[in-house]
Amino acid sequence: MKIEALDLFYIALPEIRPAADSSQDSLVVRVRGDNGLVGWGECDGSPLGNLAAYVMPMSHLNIINLNEALLGETVDSPDDVVRLRAKAGRYGLDAQQIDHAVAGVDVALWDLVGKYLGEPVYRLLGYEKSYPKLPYSSVLFGKTPEETRRIAMRISNDGYGAAKFGWSPMGEGTLEDDVALVAAAREGLGPDPQLMVDAGVIWGSDDAAAFERAERFAEFGVTFLEEPLLPDEVDAYRRLTDRRPSVPIAAGEGCDFYRAADDLMVNGGIDYIQIDVARIGGITVADRVCRRAQELGVTYVNHNYKSHLTVAASIHVFAGIEEFGLFEYPDGTSPLIRGLTEPTGIIVNSDGMVEAPDIPGLGVEVSTDALRKYLRAVRIEVDGKVLHETPAI
Ligand SMILES: [Mg+2]
Repeated sequence: MKIEALDLFYIALPEIRPAADSSQDSLVVRVRGDNGLVGWGECDGSPLGNLAAYVMPMSHLNIINLNEALLGETVDSPDDVVRLRAKAGRYGLDAQQIDHAVAGVDVALWDLVGKYLGEPVYRLLGYEKSYPKLPYSSVLFGKTPEETRRIAMRISNDGYGAAKFGWSPMGEGTLEDDVALVAAAREGLGPDPQLMVDAGVIWGSDDAAAFERAERFAEFGVTFLEEPLLPDEVDAYRRLTDRRPSVPIAAGEGCDFYRAADDLMVNGGIDYIQIDVARIGGITVADRVCRRAQELGVTYVNHNYKSHLTVAASIHVFAGIEEFGLFEYPDGTSPLIRGLTEPTGIIVNSDGMVEAPDIPGLGVEVSTDALRKYLRAVRIEVDGKVLHETPAI
């Protein structure tokens, strides 16, 4: 089929809060084939920054927009998606935003080709079957240990077998304050669920501070300590992992391209690589990282804190690898997390597990009612020529 249109929708909640919560807005990408099929994807990062990468006027040979790279192209197979992902990257070579922006259309193309060939995306990636994964409820710490304990009790009552707590106030007070937060999370969860801690890059390049926390957190049975250091501090990650802390180290959500993920795994020595399909440039690149992780003996985990469109895209990437058994499951309060897709997205089954849907494409559809509800009208015009105007839903 030919790519007939790339429709871009900027959606946002009425009020955007300064919280570490990327489920407050989105750029949703719809690819329309000339046979009537549509595919959906979304991008992490600033929606309007991403939108510009699709419509910006050519700057020079290596900065041409994504619309020009893709409109009118043929897409009939997974090989076509991989070819078009590479072409789109070349057309935006010097723009740092390109990997976030192209993620949306890459995911939409996998969805589209899956529907065209009548196969779920994980099968197009070469997996015979999908394996259930243990979802961890992904939430922010409460402002105090007591509030954290209450959140943990709610998660435990909801039946989750694992939970991850992240960001502020972790690292903002003393070592004992940090330990009290983790202790409260464990107390609220009870002894059985897995517990993960996301430090939200708070110790920068201070691997000694990170090591000290990992040692102290071990008594609470922590599965991994996530992003204790900044994504670029690969040498500090190496110093930390060389000391073999009692809690395994995870990182990777900040990786915007394949080589950054490879660097963290090979030179940073991390135990878990956490990849966000909506940041790293889509399913095509996430799949490459996943295969590299297998080679290196690193555990692949998804990162996502957007809608169930990205939740669905994430699970197909490693659906076929049984030993990669954990799944980040956004559990925040934004109505976009569960509300953007229909009917519900990727639901937790009665065994407390999640699985890639056996439905052609991603297995979720975007709700046009939700698009209408949260849509922000955008018009970009240069010298009277309209480069973008919000399309009809
Ligand atoms: Mg994180």
